[in-house]
Amino acid sequence: MRQLWQTGWMHNRVRMAAASFLVKNLLADWRLGEAWFWDTLVDADAASNPANWQWVAGSGADASPYFRIFNPVAQSKKFDAGGRYLRGFIPELADLDDRAVHEPWKNPAAASGYPGPLVGLQESRERALDTYQQLEAK
Ligand SMILES: Cc1cc2nc3c(=O)[nH]c(=O)nc-3n(C[C@H](O)[C@H](O)[C@H](O)COP(=O)(O)OP(=O)(O)OC[C@H]3O[C@@H](n4cnc5c(N)ncnc54)[C@H](O)[C@@H]3O)c2cc1C
Repeated sequence: MRQLWQTGWMHNRVRMAAASFLVKNLLADWRLGEAWFWDTLVDADAASNPANWQWVAGSGADASPYFRIFNPVAQSKKFDAGGRYLRGFIPELADLDDRAVHEPWKNPAAASGYPGPLVGLQESRERALDTYQQLEAK
């Protein structure tokens, strides 16, 4: 979110991970994220933006399956193993090693005041799956 605010751009993989976290782990309405991206993206597009948000949310014409929930930590370890991207936008994590930088809440002292997680990834994933399964059962 810092990159988006500072530069008006994010790579597609980061957009997918951020959107999945908002819609699935926080169970927020995808339109909130779509509106923020519309306000902040330099390439904001009236077709691509809502269509991609709905792909993530599982509600669009070409929707990803609801049980596809991105794990931001796994994504970070796989696509930013050395933490260069993370440290680039979160200088508070400068003192964490390449392993710890992906889960700074496990090392609060070294993460110099970087805020803790909003939700537990496993618990919020299970809550999202339950919620979607109930919706699907209706
Ligand atoms: C939640 C979410 C919101 C998005 N909102 C927008 C948006 O408002 N405007 C936008 O142009 N793209 C959007 N995208 C798609 C994609 O993230 C961007 O097009 C891409 O990251 C732009 O970077 P680039 O120009 O370096 O892309 P490159 O990977 O170099 O692709 C070149 C061009 O192909 C098109 N393109 C690539 N991927 C997609 C895609 N998934 N959907 C539609 N077009 C694509 C774009 O025009 C892009 O400029 C969104 C994706 C997600 C997951």
